[in-house]
Amino acid sequence: LLILFLFSLALVVPFCFYLHSKKIVLKSALRMGLKKKQFIPYAQAIVDTNGELSGCEVLMRWQYGKALINPDVFIPTAEESRYIVPMTLMLMDKIYQECVETCLIANKKNFYLSVNICPIQLSRKYSAKLIESCARFTEDPQLSHITLVLEITERQIITNDEDTLNAISELEKLGVKFSIDDFGTGYSCLEHLRDLNANALKIDKRFIDGYPENEHCFNLVSNILDLSKRLNIPIIAEGVETQHQADQLVMNGVQNLQGYLFHRPEPLISFLTQKVL
Ligand code: C2E
Ligand code: CA
Ligand code: CA
Ligand code: CA
Repeated sequence: LLILFLFSLALVVPFCFYLHSKKIVLKSALRMGLKKKQFIPYAQAIVDTNGELSGCEVLMRWQYGKALINPDVFIPTAEESRYIVPMTLMLMDKIYQECVETCLIANKKNFYLSVNICPIQLSRKYSAKLIESCARFTEDPQLSHITLVLEITERQIITNDEDTLNAISELEKLGVKFSIDDFGTGYSCLEHLRDLNANALKIDKRFIDGYPENEHCFNLVSNILDLSKRLNIPIIAEGVETQHQADQLVMNGVQNLQGYLFHRPEPLISFLTQKVL
């Protein structure tokens, strides 16, 4: 048994070192990426039941040389190291610039533009910068047709903290809205809905994937839809890939849809000039 134990230790320890050093490499690459401003906004359309554009979600990409890196690879480490804070601010800078640049040539159609934020950005230490960045956006008369939305994932929301609540209320005064992301994967705590005055609930792709065939997914989505009707908060279904899914969701009361069926993420600038035109 001891030999077996030592043997597995000999395997596990180097593997942990390997993971740890990979993270260190990633962290210093993120630092470099910040310096070189390599984090760029992509956008994916959110449509209404008629397939008309109602908004978009901004998704971060890392332009690393010629490679374009998806957020799943770097967001967890960015959050852990808190580099996510300057990364998001940099992203919001670019979003602001691209919106101003294109609003002169694109139609000023009203739409929602949502940005993912992580909850530490609402803490006392970091919220001032986020509020400042949102204010620049909401107070610019050129951008009055755009409603800025912040998406927070349900798993990370902290609403029993006074600083967070203060930041939320400051942002709401500016006209910023909030959506609860990945709804159904967290604690489904109803308090979040009350404190955040949520503008929309986003149902995670993993539940939409199995809808309507999988019983578990069907029940969960149906429950969220019931809840949203009672609370009068609209739903956005995420990761819609087939017409059948879309039809079933709309038939059962979903107001907004997002997914490859309608649009694949593309650079924000081309989204703004082509889709909003
Ligand atoms: P999320 O917020 O749940 O974003 C939705 C993800 O689902 C996006 O992946 C989107 O491209 C993908 N998606 C949408 N429709 C479909 C579909 O029909 N099929 C499939 N297979 N996928 C679809 P993406 O862009 O890779 O982002 C992954 C996650 O990374 C996001 O999940 C979000 O949690 C995080 N993330 C992205 N950008 C940011 C950011 O700026 N800040 C923070 N904190 N997190 C971000
Ligand atoms: Ca999101
Ligand atoms: Ca989501
Ligand atoms: Ca999701």
